[in-house]
Amino acid sequence: MNRNLYMIYGQDPKAMTMALMEAANIKDEIPKNAKIGLKPNLVVAKEPDSGATTHTGILEGCIEYLHANGYKNITIMEGSWVGDNTRRAFKVTGYDRVAEKYGVGLIDLKGDKTRSVDTKIGKMNICVTPLETDYLISLPVLKGHCQTVMTCALKNNKGCLPDSEKRRFHSLGLDEPIAALGAAFRPNLTIVDSICGDLDFEEGGTPIQTNRMFLGHDQVQIDAFGCSLMGIDKYDVAYIGLAEKYGAGSSTFSEDDIVYLNRPTAATSIPRPTGIVSRLTKNVEQREACSACFGNLVHALYRMEHEYHNTFRDHISIGQGFNGEIIEGIGIGRCCKSADCCVMGCPPSAESIINALMKYGYDK
Ligand code: SF4
Repeated sequence: MNRNLYMIYGQDPKAMTMALMEAANIKDEIPKNAKIGLKPNLVVAKEPDSGATTHTGILEGCIEYLHANGYKNITIMEGSWVGDNTRRAFKVTGYDRVAEKYGVGLIDLKGDKTRSVDTKIGKMNICVTPLETDYLISLPVLKGHCQTVMTCALKNNKGCLPDSEKRRFHSLGLDEPIAALGAAFRPNLTIVDSICGDLDFEEGGTPIQTNRMFLGHDQVQIDAFGCSLMGIDKYDVAYIGLAEKYGAGSSTFSEDDIVYLNRPTAATSIPRPTGIVSRLTKNVEQREACSACFGNLVHALYRMEHEYHNTFRDHISIGQGFNGEIIEGIGIGRCCKSADCCVMGCPPSAESIINALMKYGYDK
């Protein structure tokens, strides 16, 4: 299995998706005349800017790449969470218009037939359409989750279950069944929407702009990598370790595995922080910061406060506007390399920011 993780920054999800698929040469791994499934995350009927759902441009990018390479048998498939209506979600996000524009299938898995599949924790009912797909592309959103800490690739598979099985997952405590499902049911490819995933809730509401996407093949590795971007210790996400134990994949990755297609550029518009983000960043001075850098800092400050009960009160500098300036105190990213204490990287992950801020706090 190709263990490279392809990373791209930008603000055009369609072009970014096509570039990722080109770079990873995906066409060479899809059988001719394959029945291809696209499985986005439409957990609720909310627009992608809410931080909850997969951007429509990612579907368009996949479809245009596949069409250009001769693949015609494509179906978008999803089942929203219990209590929401997938058809309504298709409408709100514009997926119905995408399906019509490109002439691809659009299936609400809530109405799909199911088949019983053996897993490490017993039988599970899984929808037949994704099971009978020759090549399945999972399109999750990297975001926080109030019960499992984070959600990305492994948990996106839950949308391929009937509502009765989704309910049973909750009664089983989520982590075990998510891990067991990940070992029994593996999409061939995962392209992660990390444009503006929510800080804490899978249903959105506090989106953090990071303007990036990444592609990989091993769902466990992808989730572990996603944790590092969000400043979460992968061992705090129980289903990642369990999935590894059940043989779903490996959570290991190193910097050598990451193929950067580009680097972030200064954001023309980091949205003016409001609510919790405004409180977290009240001591942050940003000048032309890239959204990926600023977003990682927000994730880091949030994790420190919630998991380590450590509110960082010192002044923090971040952004390309600090290039070449002598900075007192802490600076984030290589643009602030002249800071007394610089968290190097372009952008540094939330995990490395947390480590540096904690150390800075102790050393002072
Ligand atoms: S270090 Fe500078 S250039 Fe790199 S992501 Fe941060 S702000 Fe952007």
